[in-house]
Amino acid sequence: MSDIDVSGRLTGKVAIVTGAGQTPGPTVGNGKAMALLFARAGASVVCVDRSLERADATVATIREEGGDGLALAADVSDPDEAAGIARTALETFGRINVLANNVGIGGAGDGPAKHLTEEAFDRILSVNFKAAWLVIRACLPIMEKTGGSIINISSLASLAGAQMLAYETSKAAMNRMTQSVALSGARHGVRCNAILPGLMDTPMAIVGISERRGISPDDLRAERAARVPMGHMGTGWDTAHAALFLASEEARFITGVLLPVDGGQAARVG
Ligand code: NAD
Repeated sequence: MSDIDVSGRLTGKVAIVTGAGQTPGPTVGNGKAMALLFARAGASVVCVDRSLERADATVATIREEGGDGLALAADVSDPDEAAGIARTALETFGRINVLANNVGIGGAGDGPAKHLTEEAFDRILSVNFKAAWLVIRACLPIMEKTGGSIINISSLASLAGAQMLAYETSKAAMNRMTQSVALSGARHGVRCNAILPGLMDTPMAIVGISERRGISPDDLRAERAARVPMGHMGTGWDTAHAALFLASEEARFITGVLLPVDGGQAARVG
């Protein structure tokens, strides 16, 4: 739970969050935290997820808190469904001011170069990188009419790591896409920045990785916390507060930035 008052910071704005549902678990995911925080800040939030049930759960919480949200089932890696996200937002709310590209997958088949499977390479690059571009392409012409902010959820793994070639390179490509879109959008009033979360206590990381490695969630938490200079992991709220800043007018002169949200990990060399 984040108890920081954010009311009014996105009043009248329309935001899309992809992957706004979350992997079931005891903590909040990055996408769900962003959707909830944007709504608390006053935005109408289009909550996109491949799973309608997950998107519905996020919208139910938004409405319980008195906010405005719409659940939309779509697979962002399908070009027609990606285009449908922009169309639905426009038809329902009349504009798109904020787009948070949060969908990201890893897992089965990924690994160092000699172990990575071709199937995993294609799937992870398609969902993490190409899909974000598909949604950006669909939303840009609408965002250019009012000006807007695109936030790509990358990863610290885009800068460091050696065990997940497909995941790391998909996020590194996302970083470059962020800067390319920032430059091409600069004269059209569309900013584009990326957040690089480090080690976060989200269900995607803790539930997913502990199951894959066959260790307890608490052992994994302790192991991850020990690697962070601040001594603890971040949460989905940390990602969401950084995203809210980048989405808001407070960041109106900031574009093309790759912002680590990582308790100091990116500052450590060696
Ligand atoms: P999550 O897994 O809880 O939620 C992501 C949602 O995306 C899920 O509900 C899933 O159903 C949905 N989804 C998956 N594929 C989809 C598709 N093709 N189309 C539409 N929806 C789809 O994850 P989260 O906590 O919201 O975080 C996700 C992002 O954060 C990812 O981009 C991930 O790479 C990044 N990240 C996480 C960490 C961490 O430690 N948790 C660290 C660095 C970066």
